[in-house]
Amino acid sequence: MAINTPITIAYGDGIGPEIMQATLKILEAAQAHIAPTVIEVGEKAYLAGNTSGIPDTAWQSLIRTKVLLKGPITTPQGGGYKSLNVTIRKTLGLFANVRPCVAYAPYVATHCPHMNLVIIRENEEDTYSGIEHRGTDEVYQCLKLISRPGSERIVHYAFEYARKFNRKKVTCFSKDNIMKMTDGLFHRVFNEIAAEYPDIQHEHYIVDIGTAFIATNPERFDVIVTENLYGDIISDVAALVAGSVGLAGSANIGNQMAMFEAIHGSAPDIAGKDIANPSGLLLGAVQMLIHINQPETAALIENAWLKTLEDGIHTGDIYSQAFSKQKVGTQAFAAAVIERLGATPHHFTPVEYKSGAYAKIVCYGGRPKIRSKKTLVGVDIFIDNPTDIPADDLAHQLQALKSALELIVITSRGLKIWPDSTIQDPYLRHACCRFQSGTAIKNLTAIKHDAIIQLLQQIDALGWDVIKTENLYTFDGELGYTLAQGQ
Ligand code: NAD
Repeated sequence: MAINTPITIAYGDGIGPEIMQATLKILEAAQAHIAPTVIEVGEKAYLAGNTSGIPDTAWQSLIRTKVLLKGPITTPQGGGYKSLNVTIRKTLGLFANVRPCVAYAPYVATHCPHMNLVIIRENEEDTYSGIEHRGTDEVYQCLKLISRPGSERIVHYAFEYARKFNRKKVTCFSKDNIMKMTDGLFHRVFNEIAAEYPDIQHEHYIVDIGTAFIATNPERFDVIVTENLYGDIISDVAALVAGSVGLAGSANIGNQMAMFEAIHGSAPDIAGKDIANPSGLLLGAVQMLIHINQPETAALIENAWLKTLEDGIHTGDIYSQAFSKQKVGTQAFAAAVIERLGATPHHFTPVEYKSGAYAKIVCYGGRPKIRSKKTLVGVDIFIDNPTDIPADDLAHQLQALKSALELIVITSRGLKIWPDSTIQDPYLRHACCRFQSGTAIKNLTAIKHDAIIQLLQQIDALGWDVIKTENLYTFDGELGYTLAQGQ
């Protein structure tokens, strides 16, 4: 007798409980060998007094089972508790978010009937760390963090995925024409790792035109690998182009743990009405079955689901006069899938899955850690300037300070406002004052942190509010910071 694999289940918020109920009924009818433990995370846990939204017992179950099937969770916008989805992904080290987006034409209306792509999104870094600060009355910032190991891991994963699933091409999306250091690193790592996979084609698109192509011509893509925020946005675009956000599932994969879910949210507008499409969560559960090495059950369910689509039994979000025969609710849709377990689709190619398809991919370890010669050569000092003192006056005061460092440029939101600025009406309230050990980049010499501390003490004594500093380094002689616009 097959052993039941322990898994953790979270019903989630909004439509979560209805679509999870439908999904579990199908898993049970397909005789999936699972032993679920149900945990409470999300809004209810939060309202019950657990400020993180994830009680200790939930973590214990996750750590024991290492597999989570999760309904969507409501995240308050603009305030309140942090995204539990992001917390779970980061705490469990789920670095890869895998989102297949497939068209099911003609049964699901789409203008891109041959679309069949997989988005592999970096899941732990980027602006999703949610490290944000308010520096002045008017200026807020969000820190974008991209690491070499994080980029290597996800890019490596994308190429391994392409090999395993017989995909031909991996496309990288980034915005390295603007974010030359963070996105530049991601693109560079992509090129380096692509060279290790000569059997797989590779290409790069700037994310804006790439997204436009997903919307108009997604057939050109096979596997797309990208950073966290871009991946989040393009997967909703891709899902809608395929026909509905209700159709796509996603796998969040780490070296030890994995979480499976639908790509959509908790859809509070339709919660409790039995009209939500459970397909996204069901396809997430199919990915879970492959992961826990039950590929036959995964294929049994997906083929029954494809047959249900072909038979025209559709929830409201994909219903069309031309191709639907019956509009059904969430639970009736599940019943229709259950009735078709064992059937094979005629129009769609029946799926077949190999065991261990999502086997763990550990990507850093073997690579040598980088050790460059890191030299401190200056500092950016950010000043709150609430009374809009002109940049010339501010520069005059700062130039009079006794320091080993020289004031090179003052910028506001990245744009040079001193010296020689021709800007008519500069924004003065958030001033970044760049001090370096020399004017010319090639003449920069090493300084000690003391020089920065002394400079800060003098600026403080002048009464300025220093809101933050960024040290300026060179790495093996290469600048570790960008020049200002106009510098
Ligand atoms: P959403 O995906 O919940 O809904 C967008 C639209 O799609 C709505 O009109 C909704 O009715 C429809 N829709 C979504 N799923 C559907 C389904 N299965 N069947 C039919 N129609 C469906 O996005 P949103 O409104 O931006 O977010 C609502 C909440 O969900 C927010 O709190 C957000 O933070 C959260 N969210 C959670 C996750 C997650 O848990 N992984 C993902 C995205 C959003």
